[in-house]
Formats: sequence, C-alpha cells, structure tokens
Amino acid sequence: MMTDVSSQRFVAQHVASLPRSGIRDFFSLVAAMPQAISLGIGEPDFVTPWHIREAAIFALEKGKTSYTDNKGLLRLRRAINDYLETDFSLSYDPESEILVSVGVSEALDIALRALLNPGDKVLYHEPCYVSYSPSIALAHAQAIAIPTHASDDFAIDPDRVIAAWEPGCKILMLNFPTNPTGGVTNLAKLQRIAQFAQEKDLLIISDEIYSELMYDGQHVSIASLPGMRERTIFLHGFSKAFAMTGFRIGYACGPAPIIEAMMKVHQYSMLCAPILSQEAAIEALKHGAESVKSMREQYQIRRDLIVRRFNEMGLACHLPSGSFYAFPAVDSIGFNSMDFCRQLLDQAEVAVVPGTAFGPSGAGFVRASFSTSYQRILEATDRIERFIQSYNA
Ligand code: PMP
Repeated sequence: MMTDVSSQRFVAQHVASLPRSGIRDFFSLVAAMPQAISLGIGEPDFVTPWHIREAAIFALEKGKTSYTDNKGLLRLRRAINDYLETDFSLSYDPESEILVSVGVSEALDIALRALLNPGDKVLYHEPCYVSYSPSIALAHAQAIAIPTHASDDFAIDPDRVIAAWEPGCKILMLNFPTNPTGGVTNLAKLQRIAQFAQEKDLLIISDEIYSELMYDGQHVSIASLPGMRERTIFLHGFSKAFAMTGFRIGYACGPAPIIEAMMKVHQYSMLCAPILSQEAAIEALKHGAESVKSMREQYQIRRDLIVRRFNEMGLACHLPSGSFYAFPAVDSIGFNSMDFCRQLLDQAEVAVVPGTAFGPSGAGFVRASFSTSYQRILEATDRIERFIQSYNA
C-alpha cells in the first residue's frame, strides 16, 4: 500500500505535534521476540476473577445488550458510592455526582475537555502515566510538569508544587500510587497541597486507579481532606485491582456541575460504557474484595523479590509502596534509559520500559512491572544480572 504523505496536511497541528507513546513503539519490537520476558506490561497478568466474568456472561445470556443511562446503570453508581463510603471515607450522590466511563482513560480525557479553556495551565507530577501530557495538549491547554525524585521515594513535594504554580494554573493532577514509580505521598504533604489548592483555587484531578494495590500504609484520597471534596474529581476504575483492563470501565466522582459538564462530553463522544462491563463491575464491587486481596498478596511477594534483586545487582531501587511497578536507576551503573532497554532486550531478551517514556524526569530509570509470575521475575532478574556482569567484565 502506498503511503499518502500529502494527506498529512489534514491532520490537526496539535495532534501532528504529539509524540507517539514510547511504550507502544518499544513493545512492537518485543512482540517479535518469542523468547523475551516482558516486564513492560502495565496490566495485571491475572485473568479477571471468574465470578466477575460470570456476571458478564449471565448479563449476556439474559439479553442485556442495550445502551444504558449516559451516566451508567444506577445500580452500578449506587454500588460505587457504597464502595467509596466503606473504603475511601467518601460519599457521592449516585444520581448527580458519579459518572461511569470507558476506563479511567476516558474519564481523564473528558474531565480535561470539559474543564479547560484554550491556554489554561495544568500542573502534574512527573514521571507519570504516559497519557497525562498528551491529554492536556489535546484539550488545548498547557502542561506544567513537577519532577519527583527517588530520594523522596517519588512523593510529590508541596514546595515544588508551590514553586511550579503560575498565573493561569487551573488544575493539579495527582496519581497515587503512581505509575511508573509506585510512589505515594503522605498525609502531611497531601494536607499542605490541599491547603495550597484552596489558596490558589485549583481543581484537583486525582487518579487513584492503583489505590487498592498498597503494600505499606493506608491509602488516603485527597478528596477526603477537609474542603477538598468540592474541588476534586476523583477518578477510579476496575482495570488494575480487579484485573479488568479489557472490560474498559472506570468512573469519575465530583461536584454535580462538574460531573454534568463531563457527562455532556461523554454523551456526545461515547454515549455510555458497555453494559456487560457495567454488570461485571457491580459484581466486582460487591463481591470482589477477596479476589483483590489475593492478587495484592501475590504482587507484594513479587515486589519484595524484584526490588531486592535489583538492589543486589547494583540497580538502586526504592521500595514502591503501591502499584505493580518497580523503578530502578540504571544511571547508577552508567547507562541512559534507552540504551539500557535496547541492549538488555538485544542481549538478554528481557523487556523493561525506558523511564523517559514517562517524561524527561524519568531519565536514568527504567520501569519494570511485577505483574508477571514469581518464576518469570526470578528468571528475568537473573538474566538482567548476567547482562550487567557481562557489561562490567
Ligand atoms: N491512570 C493510570 C495511572 C494508569 O496507569 C492507567 C493504565 N495504565 C490508566 C489511568 C488507564 O486505565 P484504564 O484501563 O481504566 O483506562
């Protein structure tokens, strides 16, 4: 097939200037290497628990194949509120303050599109999930990154938030536990950030998709702090803790006027989330706690293994408090992120993601996901150690 280069002129400028995801490009290479062990994937290696799959099957059997309310099934919105009341000390009106979305991805996109005027500024901490900066650009706004550091265990430093603020900043995006670092931010720091947000009238978008996957300490949502519920959009979903990435389902909670604005964008672009996924999500919230617990226990065992092995072989790695990602430093042994990943894949057939895929402040690091079996992590870390030894020899 001939590529029609001239039709490039039809592509919108702000889309043409977006970079492609560094992760996808790298993993097209990995897909062509059957012997490679991938520690690159940002999704659970577990299949969705059977009782949740069964709920989707039953719904299909009963002929549930229609659209739903734009905001999602009311039964699901009620289940979301019950879940948040119990586990997050948060309460939202299922009628007006909860919107079911096609994953947290859609919720993020429609939140930004519903709230930002061209030229508005958005603060976010970095390294971060690959979609944040592009989603801000797609909403015609300006992204301002706040670097986080291994020396702080990748927590966000309130002083840096204050220093990064400038007139025109409207939103601060937070993601704890963080993809790709596994960092969390303690209550005292969250309180200072909350106070600053109130001073500067900032709206928070808080992506808490990894919140059930905490290994040390208790997850706290910034939305639950005094004065914050009315200026926070709380985003959550089913992909990570319930191993439901393929169901494409998530939700946004917040003040009614904001949810209403997001609903308008959602209504015209997506209409509603798939009904079978919504039925599965109800089952997940009502009866999924045991499944989540057993997956979390396995992630924790794997986390302890991978972090110990990285540190033993000289790749300084902080202990991620949550998520299923380790973020070791490869510059400590003289590599940059991309060279390390390329050579490791080439010579040892292990795939990890260059830290720079998550923003410039990921330079010198790589992301290794521990959402793969204990045995494969053992084998992968042995291969990485041999690779480092051969490089040093
Ligand atoms: N936020 C973060 C921080 C993520 O890591 C991901 C997925 N990797 C998403 C959002 C998107 O999740 P979903 O499958 O719910 O769209």
